[in-house]
Amino acid sequence: MKLYNIKENDEQVSFGQAVRQGLGRNQGLFFPSNLPKFDDIDALLAEDFVSRSTKVLSALIGDELPAEQVNALVDAAFQFPAPIKQVKDGVYALELFHGPTLAFKDFGGRFMAQSLAAVSDGGKITILTATSGDTGAAVAHAFYGMEDINVVILYPKGKISPLQEKLFCTLGKNIHTVAIDGDFDACQALVKQAFDDQVLREEIGLNSANSINISRLMAQICYYFEAASQLSKAQRENLVISVPSGNFGNLTAGLLAKALGLPIKRFIAATNANDTVPRYLETGKWEPKPTVATTSNAMDVSQPNNWPRIEELCRIKEWGLETLGKGAVSDEQSAESVKALNALGYLCEPHGAIAYRVLEEQLAEGETGLFLCTAHPAKFKEVVDDILGSDIELPGPLAKHAVMELLSEDLANDFDALKAVLRRVQ
Ligand SMILES: *Cc1c(COP(=O)(O)O)cnc(C)c1O
Repeated sequence: MKLYNIKENDEQVSFGQAVRQGLGRNQGLFFPSNLPKFDDIDALLAEDFVSRSTKVLSALIGDELPAEQVNALVDAAFQFPAPIKQVKDGVYALELFHGPTLAFKDFGGRFMAQSLAAVSDGGKITILTATSGDTGAAVAHAFYGMEDINVVILYPKGKISPLQEKLFCTLGKNIHTVAIDGDFDACQALVKQAFDDQVLREEIGLNSANSINISRLMAQICYYFEAASQLSKAQRENLVISVPSGNFGNLTAGLLAKALGLPIKRFIAATNANDTVPRYLETGKWEPKPTVATTSNAMDVSQPNNWPRIEELCRIKEWGLETLGKGAVSDEQSAESVKALNALGYLCEPHGAIAYRVLEEQLAEGETGLFLCTAHPAKFKEVVDDILGSDIELPGPLAKHAVMELLSEDLANDFDALKAVLRRVQ
């Protein structure tokens, strides 16, 4: 597999390099130089999740890793299903929260951990990542206990749910969690600064595990195929998919699935009040505002770092950006949609409900709608209980962590302070 840096096109890397490096020069994202295309989609969709995903990922990775090895990585990473559930006529939920940390980020996090171990050159590895909640948990659990890999996770202090915090800040061992005095964009800026520091980067083998790592996006492509495989042929010819978006990794993966040949009629980019992308698609102006806190906090991102990949893909495929659906949803509206879904007999948390709402507004006669449910409702128990007046039960993994002691340290929004932490944990 060959990839190039979107900002500095002369920087070309292999899959292994892209996974190890995360970001390219000048903070450029890596993008595949060639996208294979599957001709017989029906045959591909007839396969089971693991063998189909192996084919998709092998076609992307090429001869850099043998198919048997890709199969072993996929098998280890994808040990849980991605079922679709009908919520009403012609509208389906894709449940991506059946992994160990109950959010879709388990797919990418676990496949990345497996890939990194497979392409490691034996040197020191420090994973540094910023999280608005779910990435942290997925990354922490995916790498927990792995030898020779240290993980440092930054998150905005007081801005993620207490349960989310418990899920990844209670592990210990090679997992170090840091509560930053700032918002998610501040955490993301610190990570970028660390990657710009060439000396530090080499000294501790810095690697980012957030959605800028190409292996995470590649893993996520697979569940779009899995969703389509559960629909009839007629339904999938008219498929509209609504994606609740923050950093836009999930939507990038969906568009990549389409580029590989999966027939998807159109995508909808659904956001909360952090609506940089919907405004941009409307006006053509990229004008991020300060991030605002919402009840769908995993999407509280005003400078989505995967957006350049979407522009690149649309440019290559000559898909006009105007073909992307869009919509921004307020907290009040997402609460209404949580209630509406509940009335249909479907329990959903605000991220999924945002995708449902925009889908409902924009789905046309004869189309099949699919919205992504990115987290288990119990992961946002406080918000959901507040909206529904319920007392939903915590599933096993959450209940276990909820009573464990928090191990994170507090840190100022300061790069030198972070550097000291990074050196200390080696
Ligand atoms: C991360 C996250 C999102 C946003 O996904 P992106 O790929 O960053 O757009 C949406 N919902 C939940 C629950 C998440 O954790």
